[in-house]
Amino acid sequence: MGAKASPTVAIVGAGLTGLVAAWRLVREGVPVTIFERYPQAGGLVATFRVGGEELECFYHHLFTTDRDYVALAEELGLGASIRWLFSSMGIYTANKVYPFGTPASLLTFKPFSFLDKLRFALSVLYLGRVTSPQRFTGITAWQWIRRFAGQRVLDVVWGPLLEQKFAQRKTEVSMAWLWKKVQLRGQSRSAGGLREALGYMDGSFGRLVRVLEEKLRAQGVVFRYAEPVLALAPGEKGVQLRTRKATEVFSYVLFTASPRELVRTDGGYFPNWYRKRLEALEATAALCLVLELKRQLLPFYWTNVADPAFPFGGVIEHTNLVDAQRYGGRHVVYLSKYLFANHPLWHARPQEVYESFVPYLSRLNRDFSQSWIQEWHLFKASDAQPLVTCHYEKKLPPVETPIPGLYHCSMAHIYPEDRGQNYAVREANRVAALLLKRVRTS
Ligand SMILES: Cc1cc2nc3c(=O)[nH]c(=O)nc-3n(C[C@H](O)[C@H](O)[C@H](O)COP(=O)(O)OP(=O)(O)OC[C@H]3O[C@@H](n4cnc5c(N)ncnc54)[C@H](O)[C@@H]3O)c2cc1C
Repeated sequence: MGAKASPTVAIVGAGLTGLVAAWRLVREGVPVTIFERYPQAGGLVATFRVGGEELECFYHHLFTTDRDYVALAEELGLGASIRWLFSSMGIYTANKVYPFGTPASLLTFKPFSFLDKLRFALSVLYLGRVTSPQRFTGITAWQWIRRFAGQRVLDVVWGPLLEQKFAQRKTEVSMAWLWKKVQLRGQSRSAGGLREALGYMDGSFGRLVRVLEEKLRAQGVVFRYAEPVLALAPGEKGVQLRTRKATEVFSYVLFTASPRELVRTDGGYFPNWYRKRLEALEATAALCLVLELKRQLLPFYWTNVADPAFPFGGVIEHTNLVDAQRYGGRHVVYLSKYLFANHPLWHARPQEVYESFVPYLSRLNRDFSQSWIQEWHLFKASDAQPLVTCHYEKKLPPVETPIPGLYHCSMAHIYPEDRGQNYAVREANRVAALLLKRVRTS
């Protein structure tokens, strides 16, 4: 009798979830092959160069509560590269940019009456004290804010914020999602709520991706880049995986891309109930127009645009968090827009997106001139922000799918926290532990 072959694992997706899961598995002696659609690792943490320095294509920072990410960075020898920097926030409403997000700025925030300020402050304080998402079962953020903070607070602050991330589906977002976001942001503040500290990795978060990739290669992980997985099916001794180049069987497959992508790989074997549950998990897409400017645009790191006339909803001036000197003196500004694929801007050419965004910058800063723009770049992500609706936890299909040996763990599996690198690490740790158990008993 021949020796029993050791179980093999394929991971679909070389984003943070896939890389971290691979790290946990290979360190326990499990052979891993990673299939990635693009020619490089990183997924949504992809980077490009500005003034000789690496920068994320999509704005990225850490909160002080992002402990799983920090622990991983320490494990990989990158802990000292995370810097905690003071952030600042603004809001553009009624044709003006106001400072926002501190007790002092709330006191002087003209668009709110005294009562609005009180209701805003009390509702945020209350949300910071709630400890379980069950308090918000079945309630949308829209309903809750209107009821407890009032119509004006909804119209000026929370409504535009929800619209910025969820577009026309803004009224469907679960209050559990908003609660957790407010709570974690509150914990990222210094005592008294005066200032918020955010983390950034010297040289970009892409550094951690590269270090991880190097370590994985050194441990024998095989990277199959530019090889998207096209179909998955039950195999004789595991899961059959098909790409343009080959059809192979792995004992286990961990799929880390979106539910929508998983549906695309169904070779007709997913039970109907499972397909339906995957299809019910939706996400907005994102456009990020990155500008390299000669001058500072706004005084804040993060400015929410609460004006529906604007084609973008967020202005993230990265160089108000990280010194512009790192980028050859260039001021880096992300203009972000979340949308669904039926929005004309999603299909527009980059130049059209640029031309529709840039004229609005002089509304934010009257001195702004197009001559400030040295270079610009447009980045797009089709599954950027999961749409977390009421009873989301019940809608989430199990990580262990009905196809024996096939596991699914993606950004959609993060609940009630908002998507983020920290939770990619946390979920990857969890799913890898589960897979290890299965591998050891198979
Ligand atoms: C605009 C924006 C801003 C963000 N800001 C922050 C922030 O400030 N802080 C923070 O911590 N996080 C932020 N995030 C979230 C963070 O980037 C993600 O949580 C994290 O990168 C998700 O990693 P992942 O591996 O789960 O998914 P992904 O990065 O999406 O990785 C999935 C991978 O699967 C690959 N793939 C897809 N289909 C296939 C296929 N069929 N075959 C093979 N490969 C496939 C993809 O190419 C991709 O590489 C932001 C995200 C966006 C979009």
